[in-house]
Amino acid sequence: MVTIDKFNFNGKKAIVRVDFNVPLDENGKVTDDTRIRGALPTLKKVLADGGAVIMMSHMGKPKGKVNPKLSLSQIVPNVSERLGVEVKFADDCGKAAEAAAALQPGEALLLENLRFYPEEEGKPVGIDKADPAYDEAKKAMKASQKEFAKTLASYADVYVNDAFGTAHRKHASTAVIADYFDENSKMLGYLMEKEVTAIDNVLKNAQHPFTAIIGGSKVSSKLGVIKNLLDKVDNLIIGGGMGFTFFKAQGGSIGDSLHEDDLMPEALNVLKAAEEKGVKISLSVATVAGNKFSNDAEQKIFETHSIPDGWEGMDASPASLKIWKEIILNSKTILWNGPVGVFEFPNFAKGTGEIAKYVAEATQNGAYSLVGGGDSVAAVNKFGLADQVSYVSTGGGAMLEAIEGKILPGVAAIVGEK
Ligand code: AMP
Repeated sequence: MVTIDKFNFNGKKAIVRVDFNVPLDENGKVTDDTRIRGALPTLKKVLADGGAVIMMSHMGKPKGKVNPKLSLSQIVPNVSERLGVEVKFADDCGKAAEAAAALQPGEALLLENLRFYPEEEGKPVGIDKADPAYDEAKKAMKASQKEFAKTLASYADVYVNDAFGTAHRKHASTAVIADYFDENSKMLGYLMEKEVTAIDNVLKNAQHPFTAIIGGSKVSSKLGVIKNLLDKVDNLIIGGGMGFTFFKAQGGSIGDSLHEDDLMPEALNVLKAAEEKGVKISLSVATVAGNKFSNDAEQKIFETHSIPDGWEGMDASPASLKIWKEIILNSKTILWNGPVGVFEFPNFAKGTGEIAKYVAEATQNGAYSLVGGGDSVAAVNKFGLADQVSYVSTGGGAMLEAIEGKILPGVAAIVGEK
């Protein structure tokens, strides 16, 4: 396998899958270009070596149809400015052979939104899964997906995947295309490398004690994550709304707190499995509750098993935070996914802010910390601590699937399924 740092792009054309799925305002102006900036090290390396770069990405969910509101032409000025070269644009990603062939070393071309073609995602359109003809349609679509991937591959000598945000998707541009390059002509980009290393640092090479902090709203969305982590961590802190499913399952009164009745047996299974595996689970002992789901709700602290009706748990209490602080500060590896309260309401954000501080402090003391998958990233950003943890992942869904132990097709297509 080749690595981007060692590869010399001189005289070569590289097709780079980037994640330029950036938010736009109603005038088509980019409102947050974090994702464009994230791809720059890879793009600049190709150009600095004397190569030419062909960038391809999706934007939004056009569902296989051309949609001018989701045209990547809108971001050309922004990409040009960030990259420092005038970016050319090919307004049909499936018919860009001429534009690609004309590219000279040092030049950059952006292809139109890949998802204007249904072949990108490879799902049959306009046919229901229950339709008897669905399987045939799916087979036909998979065949045309290969053709589409082959066309994209034909534009370039080298394929680079730097789109971690879509690494959990087996799409034409994220995985299938890799089949059309030999192993010396495909590689991960710098951003992908960083993400993969961060995942390996916690899932494969963790120093112990290893603590995972899992918060957020629902057990259902984190069950896979929790189950996979039970084989790896020493401590599992469970906070946020999902804790209440555990308390109710244990027979507690949780008032009006968020919970999922159908997940109660699974919650008890998790507790049992943790005990068997010697993992210390730390649920909150008391909660800051509100008398309505609102920032200006009246606040009262209750023990987590004794919340009266009319009150719902909305933030971590000082008593829980004291216990969690000690666990976090004694850890050598920390993985944090999900806020421990309704942090969007400033009056209920204290617990999540404290966790962010403890993770930053532990990092300062030498622990490795990875924050990723969803709202915990927004939380460390909100509290200005993103640069004080070891790594903040850029990919919500991809990071979650990786923590669940799933193979990411975008990574496996290049490095194999290890
Ligand atoms: P997730 O996407 O599963 O990580 O969940 C993040 C969401 O969980 C955030 O929007 C939080 O407001 C929400 N959340 C965290 N704690 C609670 C709670 N105690 N009650 C309701 N929502 C919560």
